[in-house]
Amino acid sequence: MKKIIVANWKMNPQKPKEAERIFNYLLKNLKTKTKALVVVCPPFLYIEKLLNIKKKSRSKAVKLGAQNCFWEEKGAYTGEVSPNMLKAFGIDYVILGHSERRFILGENSQTISRKIKQAIKAGLTPILCIGEPREERKKGKAFQFLEKEIKSSLKGISLQEAKKVIIAYEPIWAIGTGNFCPADDALTVALFIKKVVSKRFGAKTAKSLKVLYGGSIDANNAKSYLKQEAISGLLVGSSSLKPKEFLKIIKTA
Ligand code: PEP
Repeated sequence: MKKIIVANWKMNPQKPKEAERIFNYLLKNLKTKTKALVVVCPPFLYIEKLLNIKKKSRSKAVKLGAQNCFWEEKGAYTGEVSPNMLKAFGIDYVILGHSERRFILGENSQTISRKIKQAIKAGLTPILCIGEPREERKKGKAFQFLEKEIKSSLKGISLQEAKKVIIAYEPIWAIGTGNFCPADDALTVALFIKKVVSKRFGAKTAKSLKVLYGGSIDANNAKSYLKQEAISGLLVGSSSLKPKEFLKIIKTA
């Protein structure tokens, strides 16, 4: 099974030229058939440009994703972008429920589950992010926190919809800190996530569920996660903006 490597560029880079440079580097170096499914999620503003570059290069090595979308199809929602718009552009994936959106922008699991539904309806694959804060881990309550977050983020999601969801385990204390979660621990959580999903949607769905790990991934630690069968890939933040480093991570997969 192909591993999935997702690049979350967040609100970077600052100039479109730099976005093009990073993307061109990837396309140039991933021309041949890659063993990984690579999904680049740039800021909305860069999507069109990068899609045009991709079309011109005829590269199939990289797919594009978004970092967010809205929970309604259309209408008076100033500043929002609908999943249909993304799909119409040729976007295939969307990151939803990232901890930066939950904790900085005040998103909650209720709206995230609505976004998941709408994204699937539009034909996108949602990458649902979950992860515990440092305090919960310190208190020994990480698993309780994660179970609650999974259940609430998937509330109202049907079995058919659940089959289309990818879950990324991103412990908040590991994001952007260099303090990555050891692969053994991440594996234990990946299996726990599958158990929670199994209780709600059945063993078959849990078995085929793709669980990614994210949090301070670099070219040195990527392999320890990728060699775990129950970890289907990686969600990469800052290292995905360093094209050489990111390429190394992809090649590890
Ligand atoms: C992220 O925010 O999704 C992430 C994994 O960031 P980083 O790789 O920089 O820790």
